[in-house]
Amino acid sequence: MNRYAALPPLPERLNRLDELSEDLWWSWNPDGRQVFRKLDYTLWRATAHNPVRMRWIVSQAKLEAAANDPAFLAVYDRALAAIDDARAGRNTWWSDRFSHLSGKSIAYFSAEFALHQSVPIYAGGLGVLAGDHCKEAGDLGVPLIGVGFMYPQGYFHQQVSADGWQEESYERLNWADAPIEPALTPDGKPCITAVPLGERTVLVAVWRVRIGRVQLFLLDTGLEENAPWDRELSARLYGGDRETRVQQEIVLGVGGVRALKALGHEPGACHLNEGHAAFVVLQRIHDLTESGSSFDEALEEIRRTTIFTTHTPVPAGHDAFPFQLVEKHLAGCWGTLGPNRERFLALGSYDNGGGMQFNMTALALRSAGKVNAVSELHGRVTREMWAPMWPGVPEPERPVAAVTNGVHVPTWIAPEMADLFARYLGSAWMEMHDTPALWEGVLAIPDQELWAVRQNLRRYLFSFVRERARNRWTVERVGTPRIVASGTLLEPEALTIGFARRFTGYKRPELIFHDPERLARILNASERPVQIVFAGKSHPADDVGKHHLQRVYKRALDPVFGGRVAFVDDYDLHVAHFMVQGCDVWLNNPRKPLEASGTSGMKAAINGVPHLSIGDGWWAEGFSGSNGWLIDGGVAGDNGDAVDAADASALYRLLEEEIVPAFYDRDAAGVPARWLTTIKQSIRSVAPRFCARRMVKEYVERMYAPALERTIEVGRQG
Ligand SMILES: *Cc1c(COP(=O)(O)O)cnc(C)c1O
Repeated sequence: MNRYAALPPLPERLNRLDELSEDLWWSWNPDGRQVFRKLDYTLWRATAHNPVRMRWIVSQAKLEAAANDPAFLAVYDRALAAIDDARAGRNTWWSDRFSHLSGKSIAYFSAEFALHQSVPIYAGGLGVLAGDHCKEAGDLGVPLIGVGFMYPQGYFHQQVSADGWQEESYERLNWADAPIEPALTPDGKPCITAVPLGERTVLVAVWRVRIGRVQLFLLDTGLEENAPWDRELSARLYGGDRETRVQQEIVLGVGGVRALKALGHEPGACHLNEGHAAFVVLQRIHDLTESGSSFDEALEEIRRTTIFTTHTPVPAGHDAFPFQLVEKHLAGCWGTLGPNRERFLALGSYDNGGGMQFNMTALALRSAGKVNAVSELHGRVTREMWAPMWPGVPEPERPVAAVTNGVHVPTWIAPEMADLFARYLGSAWMEMHDTPALWEGVLAIPDQELWAVRQNLRRYLFSFVRERARNRWTVERVGTPRIVASGTLLEPEALTIGFARRFTGYKRPELIFHDPERLARILNASERPVQIVFAGKSHPADDVGKHHLQRVYKRALDPVFGGRVAFVDDYDLHVAHFMVQGCDVWLNNPRKPLEASGTSGMKAAINGVPHLSIGDGWWAEGFSGSNGWLIDGGVAGDNGDAVDAADASALYRLLEEEIVPAFYDRDAAGVPARWLTTIKQSIRSVAPRFCARRMVKEYVERMYAPALERTIEVGRQG
């Protein structure tokens, strides 16, 4: 399909440019990025790095110039050669090791995917994990197929009012500007699938996003043929009430499996990323009973081939519905499964404190043969939390493993940092970045060079922040206090703390303001100033989170802090890139043990931004003593106020006694040697271990390959 048919054709020499821009692979390949950056740098910035959008507005003269520029063409040709190579999937980690599984695939179901800011189908950490998982699977040659939702209105955009209240607006995605196309069935027709929902049938259109070797299929109920309320089902991510939610989850699970079939894919295993997708199990059991299996045989087969990852230790974070709601909306789904309806419903039955309900996590735990949490600590917490699932089984033996999260290094690494690694770790560093020994080379990077890169990355962050402030000033005409609060007074040379993530109670966004006077002294020290940049959205229904955000915003407006507290609005992947690369310290202070893993600290650490965190989530296993700082107030238990006071005081102590002195202790050339030692330890210890490459390899070796191997055996017997 050529979306640009109405435009003049591309110069012959650039005839594969559109193909490159419509595959998100370009976004993490350095040559792929350079193609669009070089083509028109002004548009590259103005579109927030969206080449599909750029193509509509780039001038023919620029295209002609590029087609005649040998330097541009060299990059362009390299990018095309690399994407062809990636798509072919020859000599990959997977093909070298798992050739006996060739032809098999794994379907990965998730309610959100964060791939790029131009595809707004994510809210936060869960989506980033799913996006990074798909990209890394492609890099390794793992035959993964993603299944999710195309939310035409995406997640909301955030504005903050003059008194700090979050306002939400939804923008309809302009399909023509996004790297998305209709998915085609094997006979070349746009794929549309019917999903039984209650007494009716809802039609679901399927879209495709290309991510190198991996394809992502997105479900969309926004079809004319559907009733207006059904069109709304996939309109927004995490909008709507319980009733909308259960229907969305039926569309994702039941509709997702049906869509794959219509597209001609028969995955050998299914990975459920969080409980949202657990109705996949229903449709798969249904299909097996349809072809003659008993319920028990079907369930056994599903258990053999289902992988489930749980993501939250917060009880309210697990979807549960009243039985009558589930029965109402599943009414049309049973078919041959009808006689076993009660047995299926029993798989989800669980009392999570609010009486017996149909619990999506319980369903997934009972029907997946391989279950994991997302950090070691989260594994222990999950085994405790769901103890009633396994009566009489001691904690260590309960069947929940841990696969600690990781981040996709090519996506999150700053280009300047990547160049430095290429020089000191070798040009093949990217191909072997999960090898710990490689990273010993970081210790040999000359301090001056590393420091120069760090200084530049901080400056890029501030020019980005100032550009946004300028925009608000000139276009939106907001008042001066809000211009200050958006970061105009930040100093490019001062120690900068970053805090960016979803604003919600357990993440304690306000902890650092616990003793405002002590904090003001730290921030305003004339020789050694410190500043804090905040960003993050609250879930639209989370009023507690919005109040936290409002109080943080009011601190940013307060002259007591000297314009050294800033709030950057509308946090998304684009903002996240600047922040995790440009700050000096990455702060995370959740109430332990409620952070399952966290990933933003990993993105920061690999860029030389050490982590300052409570020993929760990944930091409980990541902190080595010398690669960042551990906030440990020494108080545990249910007295939240006492825990907060102790943690805040520990945080101030670290800032006053360790962090600020180390950052400002400079040699004759102005280089902070002690600081750089921490940075090097941070990169060296985090990059090989908390990368998506290590993570995806673990999923393959411990979960995917065993599941696929067993399907082969079963096939032989049958
Ligand atoms: C990485 C990331 C997150 C997750 O942050 P945590 O600190 O791990 O919760 C959320 N949103 C965006 C845009 C991100 O890039």
